[in-house]
Amino acid sequence: MPQEQETVFVISAHSADFVWRAGGAIALYSQKGFPVRVLCLSYGENGESAKLWKQGKSRDEIKKIREAEARKAAGILGAGIRFFDVGDYPLQPTKELQDAMVQEFREHRVGLILTHSLEDPYNADHPRVTTFALECRILAQAEGYPSKHPVIDAPPVYLFEPHQPEQCDFKIQALLDITPVFKLKRQAMECMEAQEHLWEYYTDVAKRRGVQAVRNGGDKSIVYAEAYQRIYPTVGSELL
Ligand SMILES: [Zn+2]
Repeated sequence: MPQEQETVFVISAHSADFVWRAGGAIALYSQKGFPVRVLCLSYGENGESAKLWKQGKSRDEIKKIREAEARKAAGILGAGIRFFDVGDYPLQPTKELQDAMVQEFREHRVGLILTHSLEDPYNADHPRVTTFALECRILAQAEGYPSKHPVIDAPPVYLFEPHQPEQCDFKIQALLDITPVFKLKRQAMECMEAQEHLWEYYTDVAKRRGVQAVRNGGDKSIVYAEAYQRIYPTVGSELL
């Protein structure tokens, strides 16, 4: 759990990733009163907007549509959103982007980071963003890194579920009950008209993870859940 005044960051390679993979977590933390910031590194215009290309839209039109969809979805989930427009397929983080993210982590006092899996043989942008986000976290901890903001502590990093988890060596280490906010997640998913084929798919994924959450000792009222993998160990006076 982040501390008071700390921000939950969701680092999303493309404009819709945060909705399918972490929409429930975003809505939950927002309702608990934490500021949530989604950083969209690209609009996913090249690799995740096939429907719009087939409709004959231009690159600029596609980017505008994807931005509007993501902005609306973030609003429904209760998150702030910032777009960096660094391009995708391939998404190649720049030095300027690196510094901007380090300053984001410091200025907004990052307390929790959600981002992509470490591996994904189907999508080179996603794991590249994970490696990049982890490096930004390290730099934000470095006393000598130039910034007017103080260094950060050690925010936990959770990886959200990739599209084909078995092929991405994704190991579920946390199942988050998103039943109370699933309606909002579904509404946010329905903002993504360019990827309508994923609405039912990710509703089914949430149901399956909900069944597994109950099977793993969760409350019997759980219907929908999101799966996460940790990067760093938990710390406490007991094993949870
Ligand atoms: Zn993506």
